[in-house]
Amino acid sequence: MKYYSTNHISPSVPLSEAVTRGLAPDGGLYMPERISRLPEVFFSGLADMSFVEASQRVARALFAGVPADKLNSITADTLSFDTPLVEVEPGVYSLELFHGPTLAFKDVGARFMARLLGYFAAGGDRELNVLVATSGDTGSAVANGFLNVPGIHVYVLYPSGKVSRIQESQFTTLGHNITALEIAGTFDDCQRLVKSAFVDADLNAAMRLTSANSINIARLLPQSFYYYRAVSQLRSRGIDLAPVVCVPSGNFGNLTAGLIAARTGLGIKHFIAANNANDVFLEYLETGHYNPRASVQTYANAMDVGAPSNFARILELYGSSHDAIAADISGQRNSNEDILATIRDVYDRTGYILDPHGACAYRALRGGMKKGDVGIFLETAHPAKFGNIIEMAIGHGAPVPEKLKACMGREKQSIPLSNSFADLKEYLLAQN
Ligand SMILES: *Cc1c(COP(=O)(O)O)cnc(C)c1O
Repeated sequence: MKYYSTNHISPSVPLSEAVTRGLAPDGGLYMPERISRLPEVFFSGLADMSFVEASQRVARALFAGVPADKLNSITADTLSFDTPLVEVEPGVYSLELFHGPTLAFKDVGARFMARLLGYFAAGGDRELNVLVATSGDTGSAVANGFLNVPGIHVYVLYPSGKVSRIQESQFTTLGHNITALEIAGTFDDCQRLVKSAFVDADLNAAMRLTSANSINIARLLPQSFYYYRAVSQLRSRGIDLAPVVCVPSGNFGNLTAGLIAARTGLGIKHFIAANNANDVFLEYLETGHYNPRASVQTYANAMDVGAPSNFARILELYGSSHDAIAADISGQRNSNEDILATIRDVYDRTGYILDPHGACAYRALRGGMKKGDVGIFLETAHPAKFGNIIEMAIGHGAPVPEKLKACMGREKQSIPLSNSFADLKEYLLAQN
């Protein structure tokens, strides 16, 4: 099986090329040529399978061109933690995706991609250099995912003074093959520098460069593991109903992975995409017009996306039929006030502390469930990362887990650079 571009101009490529390129040359996103149904025995045995076992079976169906034993070990290494299903109130479950090393749901995609890229890079004789620009969470997940992967060096570019202390400590204290470049500028400067590096002839002649962008197929597909895990945990509680699943969405990678899981035959009754004030997808569902625009800042900042990159993949899955998309997926929007009120309400009634992204998803789920439904919302971040917002809602922050405390105690190591490309280039060339 090969991977094709959603723009249908560039040729289909093997997985190794889709993963090292990230974006297709025609600007499209890669998709698997086939999403086959998994056999009935897989679904009937799901309740008794571990997270790793079920995910290995799924990985073998979605990733072609990697030996099965290699895929199995990449998957097992990625999933060193579980995604527990917690009943928040009768019939409403939180699937907690924040138990990875950086307490972000992006850990799974980043860890899987790092290991797969490491496997493909192992064949080459030159080190592979990953450049990533971050405004916070992506840098932490990517840096931690790639930590100590042989044959790969990661440079994280971040805007000095513009990321939270917790986030900064998650990618500046790792050492080894992770270098944090502290840029005197904005996140946009960091992105511009990375883009300039990828097209610079001297740099590309001197070193192998690649990105760890969230559009990469190797980051997208492993997120489908969550959905099988959700259903598996429902089944082991004796619940056989197909759940309504609500996904807090920004670039829509997580939701796309859920749609792909459903295509393989996983029983999900309906999807709900929760948005914050950045609601282009909801607007598309309501009007049939897709009108991407600049994002606005909200309390659920990982969902502050005005032009969701995976929209093209969703269109592709449904042959661009608006009716078909709207039949499977509902949309919903949350204001900052909705987010605070939801965190407060759920805490008061149940004691469960939602993070701002999970709050959007919880509220959308409750609004979209029908009588008799079982609902699952994806809780994508640990509430301790959003201490000030939680405090506004309930008067105190969430307890900070040991994992976060540990990296905050370690020494920060970063290389300060200006926001000029000439400086970055000089620095990178000197590293070879
Ligand atoms: C990235 C992120 C999201 C949005 O996920 P998409 O796949 O971009 O839709 C939601 N919540 C958190 C905490 C995130 O980090």
